[in-house]
Amino acid sequence: MPVGSHMGIGMTSAGTRQRLVRRLEEKGIRDARVLEAIGAVPRHRFVDEALSSRSYEDSALPIGRGQTISQPYVVALMTEAILGEALPDKVLEVGTGSGYQAAVLAQLARRVFTTERIGELLRTARQRFHELGLHNIYTRHADGLGGWPSQAPFDAIIVTAGGRIPETLPAQLIDGGILVGPEQRGSIQELVRIKRSGDEFVKQDLGPVSFVPLLEGLE
Ligand code: SAH
Repeated sequence: MPVGSHMGIGMTSAGTRQRLVRRLEEKGIRDARVLEAIGAVPRHRFVDEALSSRSYEDSALPIGRGQTISQPYVVALMTEAILGEALPDKVLEVGTGSGYQAAVLAQLARRVFTTERIGELLRTARQRFHELGLHNIYTRHADGLGGWPSQAPFDAIIVTAGGRIPETLPAQLIDGGILVGPEQRGSIQELVRIKRSGDEFVKQDLGPVSFVPLLEGLE
């Protein structure tokens, strides 16, 4: 039996992935480009093999080091929130984690820049990008709170850990660019969308979410 032949027999098949896509559509994800991107990325490759049978459920799953791969619905929602009519050229992600959100973005943006503070998680994610031929993802072992100044400005920024979003991040958007991320407000997190127009930043609430914390420094 060839390596990976388990992939065709059920829990991780293309049909299972299409069921997840239908589920996200039912939950309100409308943008066909986002649904297609979710349908194109093998989420089971972004979790430990022991969890692969659960990888097309619409839930967050542990990825080690106390971190999680985000829930597919939230990945879709954030991706939808940054898309305008034209597809983005450059997108920055803070919090690579498993690499799944970056892989979804890589279907839609010309280049994805993603930062992760935990070296071990980043190494695994890089390996996955390599194996899946995702050559338009650029990674950096860095505290993403500072953004990625040498690559700024970005058409869009996605923050995938919850905290206080520093002003340095929206400042790295192009005029008209959009940042999406969870903002910590006391004990709850609210997903916010910040749109830059000139020197103004217009914030909109998108609903409550639950992410792992946005932390300073490297590990
Ligand atoms: N986008 C990821 C979600 C991972 S969870 C995915 O699709 O799997 C959020 C990640 O953000 C964790 O891996 C955590 O280590 C990382 N993180 C938290 N604070 C960070 C910071 N300041 N800079 C970079 N990464 C950070």
